[in-house]
Amino acid sequence: MVNWNSLRDELEQAKQEGRYRPLTVWESRSGTWMTLNGRRLLQMSSNNYLGLTDHPDLKEAAIRAIEQYGVGSGSVRTITGTLDIHDRLEQELAQFKGTEAALVFQSGFTTNQGVLSSILGPDDVVISDELNHASIIDGIRLTKAHRKIFAHKDMDQLEAVLKESAGFKKRVVVTDGVFSMDGDIAPLPNIVELAEKYDAFVYVDDAHASGVLGKNGKGSTDHFGLHGRVHIQVGTLSKAVGAVGGYVACGQVLKDYLIHKARPFLFSTSQTPAVAATCLAAIQVLKQSDELIKKLWANASYFRSKVQELGFDTGGSETPIVPVIVGDPAKTMRFSDLLLEEGIFAQGIVYPTVAMDKGRVRFIVTAGHTQEDLDFALNALERAGKQLGLLG
Ligand SMILES: *Cc1c(COP(=O)(O)O)cnc(C)c1O
Repeated sequence: MVNWNSLRDELEQAKQEGRYRPLTVWESRSGTWMTLNGRRLLQMSSNNYLGLTDHPDLKEAAIRAIEQYGVGSGSVRTITGTLDIHDRLEQELAQFKGTEAALVFQSGFTTNQGVLSSILGPDDVVISDELNHASIIDGIRLTKAHRKIFAHKDMDQLEAVLKESAGFKKRVVVTDGVFSMDGDIAPLPNIVELAEKYDAFVYVDDAHASGVLGKNGKGSTDHFGLHGRVHIQVGTLSKAVGAVGGYVACGQVLKDYLIHKARPFLFSTSQTPAVAATCLAAIQVLKQSDELIKKLWANASYFRSKVQELGFDTGGSETPIVPVIVGDPAKTMRFSDLLLEEGIFAQGIVYPTVAMDKGRVRFIVTAGHTQEDLDFALNALERAGKQLGLLG
């Protein structure tokens, strides 16, 4: 007789170590204030940076697309699943990012999987920042390429690795544009310079930079003025853009190659018409005005500086992702629980997601937060911090 005892044992152990996480089930739409178990909570853990999940233009575009195209696309992209709105979305994305072409996938996760697994072979080497996202790590695992990891943002190590990688056919340097746990920005100008010196490709994953960094949210390449010098720009349509999906902005050759090689593209059904239309509407919203992005950054600066003034450690944060580093995992989760009692949802992040002594409660500031919302959070942070002895 078969049974699930081994799985049960593992879950039991996770419970004993405080790592067991039941799902949090929300009773309201994504937004600044959300309902959980009948309570209104200030949301500070969502990637809905610009509040686009609830934008009237996006909702109207989705409804119109359903009426015109129905709810499903019917197949993978290579058979009958490329509707004119899918094609238009890729043209718009390429134009927005200033690249020759763009190719859309079902998510940012599958974009990394699809691109990395397609372009890397046994004669190649991939050089990856140690804090890169899980989807990059998984994408690399799907290849037979040699792997080299450099310490987070350590350009001396990157140069040393590039130097010793001269024998490989392709060298690809991969980095997150904005790192999701620390909210710091990759040193893209230095990476590009080193890559050019050692003939390597540059691959940046802008999941947390899409709609956040650069003019009108065009991403980290635009932020640093590196147009034409970053070969592969991955973005997500699931965070600031407010819907779901991922894309790669690149040259036409790479796009054509991926259409023939990338397995999530070839073997998984394309975005629903409503999603494609929503993303098209989101790009229009981004292009029309940078008001939301300005508000986002003003909120982020205000919140981060006030948190620092209170005496908390925000690590390397320089974006709307503001971690409050607590250290010990149990204390970190206690801090998050105290904030929840105060009416604030801010996720505790502990080992093994981050190092054992680097537990943190991660705040994500959005354009939708009002000054009152942020002050409400700051007051709660001060009380909870004093209660836990985190502040003097
Ligand atoms: C969130 C994230 C992804 C995954 O994007 P989805 O569209 O949610 O699948 C990929 N890379 C990074 C760096 C991310 O933060």
